[in-house]
Amino acid sequence: MGLQRLAIAPHQLQNQQIILNTQQQHYLNRVLRLKEGDRFIAMDGQGQWWLASLGASAAQARIIELLSVQNELPVTVTLMVALPKGNGFDEVVRQMTELGVVCIAPTISDRTLLNPSPQKLERWRRIAGEAAEQSERQIVPTILDPVPFATSLSLINTQQSFTKNKQYICVARGESPHFLNCLNDLRQMTPDKEQINIVIATGPEGGWTPKEVESAIAADFQPVSLGRRILRAVTAPLVALSLVAAAWEQ
Ligand code: SAH
Repeated sequence: MGLQRLAIAPHQLQNQQIILNTQQQHYLNRVLRLKEGDRFIAMDGQGQWWLASLGASAAQARIIELLSVQNELPVTVTLMVALPKGNGFDEVVRQMTELGVVCIAPTISDRTLLNPSPQKLERWRRIAGEAAEQSERQIVPTILDPVPFATSLSLINTQQSFTKNKQYICVARGESPHFLNCLNDLRQMTPDKEQINIVIATGPEGGWTPKEVESAIAADFQPVSLGRRILRAVTAPLVALSLVAAAWEQ
């Protein structure tokens, strides 16, 4: 079972109920397609997590219990990964799950070679479930349907139910600032109690086209470097995620 997380403000909690605002209702109903009774995790950004279930009116959710174990990364990370060749993505899904990703958005970029079959998607979801269990995660990462990069960019921008959203695109050559520096800045700029939601895009074997990088920048993504060496498409997401853990989890 993949439980989605929703950031709430402490004042939204009243008598074992969560009063949801319009944006959160939209996110739960329209983006995640949760129905009455479906469960999700509510986080107040202060380290408290609750298991909750969506109410009949959609404007409210019921608290089921306080969750005491918490092995998740302090920030939520969505990785938009351009699909690599062959079966390379199986292992990427497994490892991203071990490292703490919350959402994986497989994207079909201009230089992506193939369109994955529906069986592959099912397989990735199963792999994510197994890996989450093995790594003692509280949630199973969501794996979205593969969509063209442009669609991914616009979808990501509708998912702003989190108080803070910062988006990065990993670019292999050029003068972009190092991702770790950007993360350290973000951490310093953000008050401790605020939930942070990070989106990271990594490209395919052939790299992003200049047009893709431009459209990402236009969608408010910051280009970043993962170091001086050129990493393979299957390595870049893992390095990016490890840097997030390094910045927040020491
Ligand atoms: N063939 C391309 C490299 C593609 S690497 C070239 O020679 O330029 C595949 C993807 O991994 C890239 O699109 C980028 O998103 C990511 N990547 C690899 N190395 C990187 C680095 N040093 N810094 C940032 N991103 C990197």
